[in-house]
Amino acid sequence: MKYEAVIGLEVHAQLSTKSKIFCSCSTAFGAEANSQVCPICLGMPGTLPVLNKKVVEYTVKTGLSVGCRIAEKSIFARKNYFYPDLPKNYQISQYELPTCIGGEIHIELEDGSKKVIGLTRIHIEEDAGKSIHGENLGSAGNSFIDLNRTGTPLMEIVSEPDMRTGEEARAYLTKLKSILKYLDIADCNMEEGSLRCDANVSIRPIGQEKLGTKAEIKNMNSFRNVQKAIEYEIRRQEKVLNEGGRIVQETRLWDAAKGITVSMRSKEEANDYRYFPDPDLVPIILSDEYVEAVRATLPELPDAKMARFMSEYALPEHDAIALTAEKAYADYFEEALKGFNNPKMIANWILSEVLSTLNEKQCGISDAGISPSQLAELVSLIDSGKISGKIAKDVYKAVIDTGKNPANIVERQGLVQNSDSGELEAIVKQVIDSSPAEAERYKNGEKRLQGFFVGQVMKLSKGKANPQMVNDIIAKLLG
Ligand SMILES: [Zn+2]
Repeated sequence: MKYEAVIGLEVHAQLSTKSKIFCSCSTAFGAEANSQVCPICLGMPGTLPVLNKKVVEYTVKTGLSVGCRIAEKSIFARKNYFYPDLPKNYQISQYELPTCIGGEIHIELEDGSKKVIGLTRIHIEEDAGKSIHGENLGSAGNSFIDLNRTGTPLMEIVSEPDMRTGEEARAYLTKLKSILKYLDIADCNMEEGSLRCDANVSIRPIGQEKLGTKAEIKNMNSFRNVQKAIEYEIRRQEKVLNEGGRIVQETRLWDAAKGITVSMRSKEEANDYRYFPDPDLVPIILSDEYVEAVRATLPELPDAKMARFMSEYALPEHDAIALTAEKAYADYFEEALKGFNNPKMIANWILSEVLSTLNEKQCGISDAGISPSQLAELVSLIDSGKISGKIAKDVYKAVIDTGKNPANIVERQGLVQNSDSGELEAIVKQVIDSSPAEAERYKNGEKRLQGFFVGQVMKLSKGKANPQMVNDIIAKLLG
C-alpha cells in the first residue's frame, strides 16, 4: 500500500517584548531563577492582569505579513489544567476568537519547486514556567521550579495540515522564522526555547480523503530535528499499518540521540482542557484605523524583496532567494552595491566566500570580518583587472584576518596583477622552453594542454599573471 503523510505544525514564538504579557516583569533570558516574577504573573488571588499593547501590535503585524484576516474582536480564555509550573492552574490563551484567522506561507523546496501552506490561525497566549529536575542540580529526586518564564508573551501559529514531507515542514519553519526576523519581533532561538514546534503527523492511503489517526510530536529543538522526527514518524506509522496494526492517537517525544520518537501519553490519559472566557480581561477590539496604522509599519518582506532583487538587479531566482533568506544578508548586499555596482559579482562573493566564512566562524554576517564596503572594494579590484580572481581569494582572507582594506593589502603585498605583455611573454617562453614535449603535442593539435601552460605560468608569476593575456600569448606563440 502506498501512503501519503499529512503534516500540520503548531509553532510557539516568543515575542521579544521587554516586559511580560500581563505585568511589567522583565522577559530577559538567563536571569537567576525566580528573580523576574510578581504577584500578577504568578496569578495570585486578588491580582488583575493588564494586557501589554505591544503584544497585540506584534501579533497583528505578523498576521498582516502572512495574509491573515485580523479579527475586529478577539477574547482571552482560560485553559484549565494542573501542572506544577503553572501556579494559577490555568493558562491565559485564546480559543474561539483568536486575533488572526487564515493566512498562508509560501515555501521553496531544494529542487526549486514552490508550495503554499495555509494557516488556520495565530493566537496570543502566555507561557508557563519551567520545571527543573534534580539530576541536573546535583540532588536527584528533587524538582525545582523557575517561574521567570511565566507570563512571557507567545504567539501560537497553527498551520493547516498542508505539508506532506519533513522537508516541507523544515522549509515552512525556515520561511516563518525569516518573516518573524524581518519583522524584528521575535528572536526565534530554538535552543533558548524562544521558538518551539509541535508536529501533527498522520498517514493515509494515497487517494483517500479521510485523515488517518495522528500522533503529535514534541521536543524537537532544531529545524533539522523537526525534519528527521517527521521522517521517522512517517516510516514508523507505515510499518505499523503494513504489519496489520493500528495507529493510536498519542503524544510522542523526539529522542534526538537515538533518532526515534517514543510514546509519552495516549489520548486516554491526555489533558482534557476546559476553556472559558477570562473574566479579568476585556475583549481586544481592533479598529480598521488601528490595523491600517500597523500595516503602514510593515517592512519589505522576504517574498517581495526576492521579487525586487530579481527585477531590479537581474539576479537569478536562486541567488535572490538565498540573499533574502535573512534580512541581514539582503542589507549587506545592498550596502555593498553602493560601493561597487555589479550585483551579480557581489552576489557571487556573498553566496560563496562570505557564507562559508559565516559557517566556519558560526557567526552573523555583521561579524564576518569584512564590511560591505570592503567587499565592494575587493570586487572592484577584480573587475578592473588589478588583481586576478585567484589573488582576490588571498586578499579576502587577509581582510578577514587583519581588518585592513583590500586596496591597502594589494599594494603592501605587491599583489597587483601583471598585465605587462613583454614580461608575460618572457614567462610564457620560459615555460615553453622547459616543457618541449608538451609544446610539441600542443602544436600537433592537443589544445587541451592550454590549461597546463596557463597553470605553469601562474605558478611562475605567483598567481599575478593576467590570465586572459596569458591565454592569448600561449595561443600566439604555439599556434
Ligand atoms: Zn510579573
